[in-house]
Amino acid sequence: MPAISTDKVLVTGANGYVAAWVVKALLEQGFAVRGTVRSDSKANHLRSLFKSYGDKLEFAIVNDIVKEGAFDEAVKGVDAIAHTASPFHTHAEDPSELIVPAVQGTVGILSSALKHGSSVQRIVVTSSCGSILEELPVPKTFTEADWNERALREVETKGAAASAADKYCASKALAERAAWKYWNDHKGEVGWDLVVVNPSYVYGPILHEVDKPEHLNESMRMFYDAAVAGTYDKDMLNWGSSWIDVRDLGLAHALAVKTPGAGGERIIVSQSVFKLQDFVNVAHRLYPQLPAGDTDFNPATAVYFQAYDTSKVRKLFGIKLHTIEEMVKDSLEDFKARGWIQ
Ligand code: NDP
Repeated sequence: MPAISTDKVLVTGANGYVAAWVVKALLEQGFAVRGTVRSDSKANHLRSLFKSYGDKLEFAIVNDIVKEGAFDEAVKGVDAIAHTASPFHTHAEDPSELIVPAVQGTVGILSSALKHGSSVQRIVVTSSCGSILEELPVPKTFTEADWNERALREVETKGAAASAADKYCASKALAERAAWKYWNDHKGEVGWDLVVVNPSYVYGPILHEVDKPEHLNESMRMFYDAAVAGTYDKDMLNWGSSWIDVRDLGLAHALAVKTPGAGGERIIVSQSVFKLQDFVNVAHRLYPQLPAGDTDFNPATAVYFQAYDTSKVRKLFGIKLHTIEEMVKDSLEDFKARGWIQ
């Protein structure tokens, strides 16, 4: 694939937490962007945020990614696609509430690109480390060769009784598998290649429209509840995984669009392991009025279960990642500016 650097990229679910940073990174890298949103009013905040980019940012309405042919119009005339739209929440009763939009949205955009995206050269799908990690009793460093077979089994056998995390992880694993299958089945017919980005938990300041903390996206609501609201007990504060700064993830998407060597790769994008209490410790040091959380927590003896081998992303993109200190500080400054911290 030739390097794409000055052309138009379609970003699905542009008004989402991650996508807003993807749009920003693409604009900063010189791309024009067409973002999909469910309704025109959902584009207003981004229009105003990025008004200095003028007509380099436009929007298309896709009110439900599940609908057959949902992206048929939106893919016309773009050179690359970043497909981020997918539900991420913990209140799905039936796993299909997550799985259907995740899988059909992904297959839908690939098939729209096959039929109507004659200028598309690359498609970047936002998957998740949820399609890689497994909840294990011992620590493990996962690689791009791993798949979350456990979540798939859990959802297959338990259905609605599976955990919220397993339902979400299964939706991401099934959507990613469907993307690779679609690509393998159709690679002879299309002019594009496929890149899959697998972020760990995403934290950092907010660009998209959020009126109150209760309406934060899933990962930042968790951050807010731990570091600001102080609503979590010790068990929850000692929960953790690995994390990535949303700004680095936005840039990783832009580089995934334009780096020739990324084609055909599954790429873990992650900074380091964490427990929620690690975030609370930084937050409390910076803002002593915020909760101290679990004061018995000792990072030196805590067991961090889900680490990732990030050699591929470092080699391909060489991004200097934000530190935990920077991420917590900038997130809290953002909350303070919104009046969410006194
Ligand atoms: P958000 O909830 O902020 O964004 C999700 C986006 O998808 C929104 O624009 C939403 O539109 C859109 N969307 C969801 N379902 C549909 C649908 N049926 N039809 C049309 N649009 C839909 O989530 P994030 O930004 O956190 O997540 C973005 C991507 O990153 C997802 O693929 C997620 O799985 C992945 N990811 C996120 C992580 C995280 O920690 N945040 C970690 C790893 C991966 P609307 O707002 O209008 O509903």
